[in-house]
Amino acid sequence: MTDQTIETDYLIIGAGASGLCVADVLVAESDASMLIVDRHDLPGGHWNHAYPFVRLHQPSATYGVNSLPLGQDRIDPDGLNRGLCELATGPEVLAYFDRVMRSQLLPSGRVDYRPMSDYLDPEPAGGRTVHRFRSRVTGLVQTVAVRKKVVDTRLGNVMVPATHPVEFPVAPELSCVPLNALPQLNRPYPRYVVIGAGKTGVDACLWLLAHGIDPDAIRWIVPRDAWLQDRANVQPGDAFLARTFGSFVTQMETVLQADSASELLLRLEAAGQLLRLDPDVLPTMYRCATISRDELAQLRRIRDVVRLGRVTAIEAGRIVLEHGTVPAEADWLYVHCSAVPFQSQGPEPIFQHGRIAPQLVRNCQPMFSAALIAFVETLGDKEGLDDAAMNRLCQVVPLPERPHDWIRMQAVVMLNQYHWSQHAGIRQWIEHARLDGFAGRLHRLGKTDPVIQALAQRFKAAAVPATMRLQQWARATG
Ligand SMILES: Cc1cc2nc3c(=O)[nH]c(=O)nc-3n(C[C@H](O)[C@H](O)[C@H](O)COP(=O)(O)OP(=O)(O)OC[C@H]3O[C@@H](n4cnc5c(N)ncnc54)[C@H](O)[C@@H]3O)c2cc1C
Repeated sequence: MTDQTIETDYLIIGAGASGLCVADVLVAESDASMLIVDRHDLPGGHWNHAYPFVRLHQPSATYGVNSLPLGQDRIDPDGLNRGLCELATGPEVLAYFDRVMRSQLLPSGRVDYRPMSDYLDPEPAGGRTVHRFRSRVTGLVQTVAVRKKVVDTRLGNVMVPATHPVEFPVAPELSCVPLNALPQLNRPYPRYVVIGAGKTGVDACLWLLAHGIDPDAIRWIVPRDAWLQDRANVQPGDAFLARTFGSFVTQMETVLQADSASELLLRLEAAGQLLRLDPDVLPTMYRCATISRDELAQLRRIRDVVRLGRVTAIEAGRIVLEHGTVPAEADWLYVHCSAVPFQSQGPEPIFQHGRIAPQLVRNCQPMFSAALIAFVETLGDKEGLDDAAMNRLCQVVPLPERPHDWIRMQAVVMLNQYHWSQHAGIRQWIEHARLDGFAGRLHRLGKTDPVIQALAQRFKAAAVPATMRLQQWARATG
């Protein structure tokens, strides 16, 4: 069954955070129309499947869409995030994205939102690409005539345990549940085996400890240790500017002090820029995970940490891992936290012949990145920029995976930052962007605050040689 064709300037595939960020800027900075298609009933993408106790791991103040603040700019007075900017809960994030849709996007009169709809693979017809989507409720298939571009937000491919079951066999008599099930527990277990050490594994361990489980009743399967960011170093707001900017300056100076790429991460740790779970275990992973020092202190209470690689099976009596086995008992609870959080299909150019593929253009900041990409898209029209020119302004920051990716990431970040600083329109947009939380403050406080002025001098001295060194190392490490 098909209906008449819908005409629109932009077809946005996905009403997750990235799609909404793009739509928000297109509404604010252009007069374009757009159609947003998503499988879910509510906007917010993967947050629809979040575990009940999830929170952002970075401050609410720089999360969400550019035009609408998230949270109240509170500093947490207690808890493991004490003294730092508030972190929205999963329900708060979902309610926020619903508000974005209803109070920002739909009232513009230029946004057509089709939830519960699958975008179907495009079909070539007569030299054109035909875009279609099918309602999951009525089965109706509709065709979309796209006047300008398709914004495809599927590249991030976010995977969460609730939607991605364990990839290994589990003996039927054992209970293996995604961490979403923890708040539904109706009896205690003698032992909890947390499988995975990404954001979800960390959250499961912290939840168990916060609910009074003895640390010795937790076995934590840590396939790989990660370098972690200290959340105190990435705080937005005037009160934190010296610390946050100081941290960035320290990172650049540390790059100059290091003798080699491999030594750099250890130096960054010594300078308080990176943290790790166990001081005796060298991390082999870096994925932008952010943690407070109080959270880290809690995690270190867990002593039964299994470092034998990924789990390949949980059998009666034993957990089989890549590099060995450990016992498994039938009355233990096995908590699945092993969905890989992001599996990028990229990187690929962001602007490509009628298609925009949002990816990171700044390290660990998907929201800022999607918004800036949309702003550059609006410049394309205003200033007659072609895809190549826009891609030069938006070089893809690779999603980090290994420790050395910190270097590859920063090398591109510094280059992008330089190009943005040379373009008056982009510079001005960033200075006023809520999602940036940095440039506008530097500009304003830098006029009067001697601490910020001193940091700016140090940054000026370190930025160019550090960028050159990062690029040299990035080329050498591949
Ligand atoms: C637990 C957790 C905590 C996080 N915390 C933070 C944080 O603190 N700060 C931060 O910056 N980032 C954080 N992230 C990263 C997070 O991934 C991004 O913030 C953001 O939510 C990603 O949004 P997205 O739109 O790229 O992807 P998604 O949320 O996956 O949205 C993509 C959407 O596209 C839809 N879609 C895909 N294919 C189709 C199709 N064929 N047809 C129709 N619709 C389709 C999907 O249904 C989905 O709704 C966190 C991630 C997780 C998992």
